[in-house]
Amino acid sequence: MTDGNDTRQYLTPRIFASVAEIEAVPGYVPNNPIGTNNYAGLLGHYDFGEELRCCFQKPNGNLCREVHKFGFVAKLLNSTVTVIGNHCAITKFDADSQLNRDRRHALAYQEREKKLGRVADFLTQETAISQVLERVKKGAGELAQRLHEYKDELGEHNVRRLEDMAKTGRSDITLTAVYVRYEVDKSGERHEERQQVSHRLGTIQGLELFRPGSLQQLLSSIQSVRLALLEANTLMRSAKRPRTSAIERLAATLGTWERCQTTLGRLQNHERAFRATDPSLFCYLADDRVQRYHSARAAMQRLGLEGGKNRAKEWLAALDAKIKAQLGAQQILIAR
Ligand SMILES: [Zn+2]
Repeated sequence: MTDGNDTRQYLTPRIFASVAEIEAVPGYVPNNPIGTNNYAGLLGHYDFGEELRCCFQKPNGNLCREVHKFGFVAKLLNSTVTVIGNHCAITKFDADSQLNRDRRHALAYQEREKKLGRVADFLTQETAISQVLERVKKGAGELAQRLHEYKDELGEHNVRRLEDMAKTGRSDITLTAVYVRYEVDKSGERHEERQQVSHRLGTIQGLELFRPGSLQQLLSSIQSVRLALLEANTLMRSAKRPRTSAIERLAATLGTWERCQTTLGRLQNHERAFRATDPSLFCYLADDRVQRYHSARAAMQRLGLEGGKNRAKEWLAALDAKIKAQLGAQQILIAR
């Protein structure tokens, strides 16, 4: 008979991929009863669709015989090997029994191995990942430059307004149309009646580009993946057994590298959409004369019109007049 110390040699649990693999284990005996008093150690677990009947021996002497898809391969005190379903292992043995301690250890070990495998996989793609990150970083730098240019083009105040709009998710430019009517009452006195109606002028596309922190967040994600690659290299070369928490953190961080690429693509799409937005809308971002001239000059430039301060004034006045006429309003008010 083998003594309890025998369990120590099974500390590296296996994953069995088929019934055949289990049948090939030396000492495996089909329909070999396992109970709380003959368990010696755990060889590993299986998780497959094949038929394998649980060998837990019930008090009446019969075997459980249920087909558990997920279960464990165990060694018994008489050195033979058998199988037990996960459900029976949990419910028929005490939580702190050797079997359940071994079961938890085996599953935690496999989970850790899986994460370690993921980290190793990322390292095999290290060159490709680094190249992508380099491209993303370059793209993010170009967008940052473009944002800077928009500040020059539209004015800092207007860009702040765009940032606020991005934060609140409100991308519509609205203005208030004022309708004035005069009525003469019975005594011949003239009364002015004013009616204000909110009107949506248009929508600024790609506003997400101006959400504060978007680019910084992307750059810091790139940096995190880069650092994780360095750390993973050190960790895999080290002779010391890496901590589970470190493996999990690295696997999670490295898993975000593709998202960096997607994020850049999304921001680039927003930028394209923003560039396609009708530039005259920028003149209605804020009720400020200086800002509006600034916007008008930018809009004219985008539309390929001859600029200059006076021309911008005229162009803006004509634009306001056109909108007033379209709305049939006597006055238009721009939100502050
Ligand atoms: Zn069972």
